[in-house]
Amino acid sequence: METDKLTGLLLFDGFLDFAKDYLAKSNTDDHIAIISTDLSKFKYINRVYGFTSGDKLIRKLAELFMGREECVAACRPYSDHIVGLFNLKDKDVRECVECVRLLQNSFVAENKADYSKASIHLNTGIYEIVDRKEEISSALDKANIARRSVKGNYSVPCAIYTKEMQERREGDEKIIPLFEKAVEERSILVYFQPKVSVSEHCVVGAEALTRLQNEDGSIIPPDVFIPVLESSGKILELDWYVMRFVFSKIRDWLDEGKKPQKISVNLSKIHFYYDTLVDDIIREFEKHQISPEYVEFEITESVFFEEADLIISKIERLREYGFKVSVDDFGAGYSSLNLIGILPVDIIKLDKRFVKNSLGNKKGKDIIKGLISILNEIDMDIVCEGIETKEEERIVYEFGCDSMQGYLYDRPIPVSDYEKKYIY
Ligand code: C2E
Ligand code: CA
Ligand code: CA
Repeated sequence: METDKLTGLLLFDGFLDFAKDYLAKSNTDDHIAIISTDLSKFKYINRVYGFTSGDKLIRKLAELFMGREECVAACRPYSDHIVGLFNLKDKDVRECVECVRLLQNSFVAENKADYSKASIHLNTGIYEIVDRKEEISSALDKANIARRSVKGNYSVPCAIYTKEMQERREGDEKIIPLFEKAVEERSILVYFQPKVSVSEHCVVGAEALTRLQNEDGSIIPPDVFIPVLESSGKILELDWYVMRFVFSKIRDWLDEGKKPQKISVNLSKIHFYYDTLVDDIIREFEKHQISPEYVEFEITESVFFEEADLIISKIERLREYGFKVSVDDFGAGYSSLNLIGILPVDIIKLDKRFVKNSLGNKKGKDIIKGLISILNEIDMDIVCEGIETKEEERIVYEFGCDSMQGYLYDRPIPVSDYEKKYIY
């Protein structure tokens, strides 16, 4: 049978034929599963380490599959994606999850040093074929749905397919057409949430946050649609939409003789893959004849772990032009103090969950206090997110943070409401 030149695995069609025959002949008491795996950020690995190194990693992944005696056949449908047919005999598929997790850990440990800039990570989905007459392609789809459900999830890198995953996926599929229609009709909802200065008792600016609307008028929150837009690349369109909206809103305020505030826009990391990003932003911005001091870009902390080199020079250029740049969700992941030292940003936004968890205990409070003190020492501005109570505000303010954002002051609200309340 013909095989894949790179890995020696079966070709896709050969794998489907083999699996079909195997299932027909196998003992019905055996547990048989499809396992589907891919690497996170494989394009990035190729770009940074070159295709030869990328190929080496794929070969190792193929060896990982074929090195298991339970794996009766495997193939590489494309790129960094490996699929195997596993006969687990009398082992339950749930036991398999722990085994996969251990294998993933050892794969990461073995390759970490050679790909230190890329934080190697595998995503795996498992589907047990109970009905032996099920089409292999349908079984494979389900293993892939399970794999995608853990994509980018560093704490749960492996999942068994469930019906709920399928339902969620079907829900996700509605998002893209809804989003495209909203872009066309310019009906994406942009909300502003104020940021306040505690010492000055006033609103100093806002963050622009978006919502989508279902056909029945109900609101779809960002937690639901942002991941879908991110994995499809459509997030770029959303961020551009918000950027244009914010630039022209500031222009309107000036034209109406009102005092503009600084508005922040979330910039997804995908933008940074584009070398023309900064020029594109400046070109769009200059159409509006406003000062860059009114614009801030929020970039999430996680971006800086792997792609710092891609990002730093672009941030420097944005700041040279006069925009403010902040690190969003600081403390949500694996932030290190080292990161603060190398990041050319103006503002650190302390993540709402990090703050909430920390304020609940003495050690956590000490950490927040120390962190705020270090940030003040190096003249970094700090915004504390997710402030919901007067008590939280008091503690954080006493630690030396003056700017806050949270439900205590206001939720994100439609821009027309924001203007009535805060713009004059
Ligand atoms: P984020 O950038 O961290 O935005 C802050 C989130 O915290 C907002 O959720 C806001 O409603 C919520 N929040 C603010 N104060 C409080 C509080 O006191 N308590 C609690 N529990 N939550 C609070 P939202 O609007 O649901 O947005 C979620 C995430 O979606 C945002 O997190 C941001 O990462 C993303 N997002 C939203 N709109 C856009 C967009 O236009 N572009 C991009 N790239 N991302 C967006
Ligand atoms: Ca943000
Ligand atoms: Ca945040």
